[in-house]
Amino acid sequence: MERINLLGRTVAEMQNLMLELGEKPFKGRQLFKWLYNSLQPDFQQMTDLSLELRRKLSEQYIFEGIQPKKKSRSRDGTEKILFSLEDGNFIETVLIPDGPKTTVCVSSQAGCALGCRFCATGKIGFKRNLTAGEIVGQLLFIRRQYGPESFQNIVFMGMGEPLMNFSNLTAAIEIISSELGLSLSAKKITVSTVGLVPKIYELADSGLKVNLAISLHAATDDKRRAIMPVSRGYLLLELMDAARYFALKRKKRVTFEYILFEGFNDTMEDIQALSNLIKGIPCKINVLAYNPVGDLPYSRPSEGKLNEFGRLLYPRAPAVTIRKSRGLDIDAACGQLAGKYLKAS
Ligand code: SF4
Repeated sequence: MERINLLGRTVAEMQNLMLELGEKPFKGRQLFKWLYNSLQPDFQQMTDLSLELRRKLSEQYIFEGIQPKKKSRSRDGTEKILFSLEDGNFIETVLIPDGPKTTVCVSSQAGCALGCRFCATGKIGFKRNLTAGEIVGQLLFIRRQYGPESFQNIVFMGMGEPLMNFSNLTAAIEIISSELGLSLSAKKITVSTVGLVPKIYELADSGLKVNLAISLHAATDDKRRAIMPVSRGYLLLELMDAARYFALKRKKRVTFEYILFEGFNDTMEDIQALSNLIKGIPCKINVLAYNPVGDLPYSRPSEGKLNEFGRLLYPRAPAVTIRKSRGLDIDAACGQLAGKYLKAS
C-alpha cells in the first residue's frame, strides 16, 4: 500500500486523522507538534504516542519534505534555493540576511499566470498552485538545514501570486504561525499581491494577522495597465479602497511596493500622482530599483535617481523606504525568479 504524505496537513486535519484511526483528537496536536515543531518525521520516535498508534502511522503515512536541487549564494550573503517538485516543476526560495535578522522569500505557485511585463516568473507562464505542504516545505527545509533561528520574517514575494492560491496559502500560514507548528508569529509574515481586490477583502476578514504588501509600481491606471495586465480588471481607486479597508480592519499599515523603472514612472508627475492616490491610507511606500531580466525592455535607474525619487516623495507620503536590491548576481532579486524554465528556453 502506498503511504500518504502528511506534509501540509493542518492541526484540524491531524485531529480528524486521529478520529479516523480510532484515537482521541488531541493526539493530532501531538503529532502536529512532532512533525512541524520538533522536526521529527519518524513516527517511531514520537515517544508520547502509544506503540500501537506509532505502528499504524508508520504503516500508512510518511512525512516527506521537498527536495532542493541547487543552491546559489550571492556576494551579499543572499542565498537562493531551487527546489525540484515531484511532478518536475521547479520553484525558488530566497534567504535574505539583514544584520541579525533573516527574511525568507517564499514561493506560492510554480510559474505565474499574471504576466507582469517586467517579471521573470511572469515570462514562464502558469504551471500550477503549490500545495500547502510545498509552501511549508520550503521553510521546513531551511529550518532543518540552518536551525530554529534561521529566519525571523517571511514574505510571500517569491514565484506566483499568493492570493490566487488562497486556500493553500492560508492553510500554510496557519501551520507556520501555530505555536505547535513553526511558531512564527503572523505579524512576521507578509503577503504580497499585485492587487486582487476581492481577495484583499477576504484576507482582511480571514482573521489571519498577517501584513499586506501591494505591488503598485505605477500611480495611474494607464501606466499600471501597461506593465501589469491584471490591473485591467480593477481600477486603482478600487484597489485603494481595498487597501484602506485592510489597514483599518487589521489596524496595520499597508506597504505599497513601487519599482522604479528608468524613464517610465520616475518623474515629479508620478510622485504627485502617487501621493494623491495614497492620501488617507495608513501606509508606507517601499521604493526599489528595477532589477533587469534577460531581454525585457526596461532599464534600471541610477542610484542617484532612486535616492532623488525617494527624497522628493518623502514629504508627500506617511513613510518611505528605499529598498536595496539583494542577490542580484544570482538572479535572486525581486522579479528575477524563474526556476530553470527561463534558462532552458
Ligand atoms: S510580479 Fe508577481 S504577479 Fe506579476 S508575474 Fe511576477 S510573480 Fe506573477
